Amino acid sequence: MDDLIEKIARPDIADLAPYRARGGAVDGAVLLDANENPWAPPGAKGAWNRYPEQQPAPLVTRIADLYGVDSDQLLLTRGADEAIDLLFRATCRAGVDYALISPPTFGLYGVAAKVQGAGLLEVSLDENYAIVPDKIIAAARSNSTKLIFLCSPNNPTGNLIARQDVVRIAHECTDQLVVVDEAYIEFAEASSLTKELADLQNLVILKTLSKAYGLAGARLGTVIANAPVINLLRKVLPPYPLPSPVITEVLSALAPVNMAIFNERIAQLKAERQRLYTALPGSNDIQEIWPSAANFLLVKLNTKSDIQVRLQASAIHVRDFSALGEGMVRISVGMPKHNDALLTVFGVGQNKTPNRRTATISRQTKETQISALVDLDVAEPVSIQTGIGFFDHMLEQIARHGGFSVILTAKGDLHIDEHHTVEDCAIVLAQALRQALGDRAGIGRYGFVLPMDEAQARIAIDLSGRPALRFDANIPDEGVGGFGGQMVPHVFETMAQHLGAAIQIEAEGQNTHHVIEAIFKGFGRALRPALAREGTAIPSSKGVL
Ligand SMILES: *Cc1c(COP(=O)(O)O)cnc(C)c1O
Repeated sequence: MDDLIEKIARPDIADLAPYRARGGAVDGAVLLDANENPWAPPGAKGAWNRYPEQQPAPLVTRIADLYGVDSDQLLLTRGADEAIDLLFRATCRAGVDYALISPPTFGLYGVAAKVQGAGLLEVSLDENYAIVPDKIIAAARSNSTKLIFLCSPNNPTGNLIARQDVVRIAHECTDQLVVVDEAYIEFAEASSLTKELADLQNLVILKTLSKAYGLAGARLGTVIANAPVINLLRKVLPPYPLPSPVITEVLSALAPVNMAIFNERIAQLKAERQRLYTALPGSNDIQEIWPSAANFLLVKLNTKSDIQVRLQASAIHVRDFSALGEGMVRISVGMPKHNDALLTVFGVGQNKTPNRRTATISRQTKETQISALVDLDVAEPVSIQTGIGFFDHMLEQIARHGGFSVILTAKGDLHIDEHHTVEDCAIVLAQALRQALGDRAGIGRYGFVLPMDEAQARIAIDLSGRPALRFDANIPDEGVGGFGGQMVPHVFETMAQHLGAAIQIEAEGQNTHHVIEAIFKGFGRALRPALAREGTAIPSSKGVL
């Protein structure tokens, strides 16, 4: 391995020690070592007066877990863009060394090469936009090449590079770093190449939170490689690449309870990509479209059509790639309504998805971390994980019988008891429902059920915006499955408050499990007509709910 570093590192930085400074606050210490201001500015949400850690430990741990690698195998950077720049700085001597790319590909490789004064070897993709491993290997070996960039899925062509091709290139090009840019891998039906790191000392993988995790504005990229390569890159890393507010906000956005929502959104984007890929070829404005494993589609527009003008008139921005040929554009996959707008301009917008009432809530306190995604206009998916089996089952009843989709994940202080988790889940679900309801236009507003066959629960609901609970059911304190009986009225009290609803519940029965379940099911059944959209009017003589 040291052998590899000797071969690829710029000799003039080989002896450079990484910049070392304290960074971050130190509990109980008097910090007079960095010329910082002892006061943070008014309103600062953290110790912004202190320089941040160069590689903040909590974030390193979280990202290592996210990508399934060890902490010493990664380096956090200001976006993957900075990682590309660091690779050039650490390896390429100006006017001497080369990087190899396979165009058409991500433009920044070429820009970073120019900035560093490195040469660029171009081995074009073939007519199907696939890489040509034989040519790549031959070209890399016959020049002083330090870096081989393989973008998979490739931007802008959207296709994935076969794992065996990457492995073969890395095996044969042992004097080079083989950099696999996986900026879009989360959208592909393929797993990351991180597992190959054990066998391939010269493999480098680039990741970003900008695409699949919706954090382009936070600027957070990751280099993943074996420790000697990471240590080399540290030598050229700026002293404090990550701003403190970014560290805090990214950690909060990547809370493990949010992962189910990220996964659902990735799945939605993939489904929408398929919808566009299927519908767009029906348009006279499209000449060709390429399959994509990323969150965008490369298309060739009919050069005789005025589609570019119509897109502009509708304020729909797509990316021009006319350098690849007349009419070539890259279209990012948006929300269903954005894609509807796009399809309409292309004249193939018949399957308009109704404007869906959705909301997400993420709530993090010292007692609980909870996130929820609610969609009132579809029935799937329903996925509830609160850590309390019986409560999961009960919330699932609300969603199933209510006919709406919920993904709710909670991590609470269950070692104390279930109270905080149950209450906060009720708050989050109710807030998500309330937010999704918006101005409540068109809803049925009222819901009720008559006695259910075996369990005799009677529930009436008015989504009036005004909280009130009437609860009349005798539930023994011991409850069911670690779910205390007194939590039942508490859940609905919380729901009434945070949903803004009058909820009236009466139930009786012999078996506690049945009574509780009948209440939750009945609540869902009562919600169903109350949430359902019947028109557009606000169902109140006041005109406001
Ligand atoms: C968007 C993109 C990046 C940049 O990611 P950031 O983390 O936002 O800098 C890197 N590589 C490719 C191929 C991209 O398309």
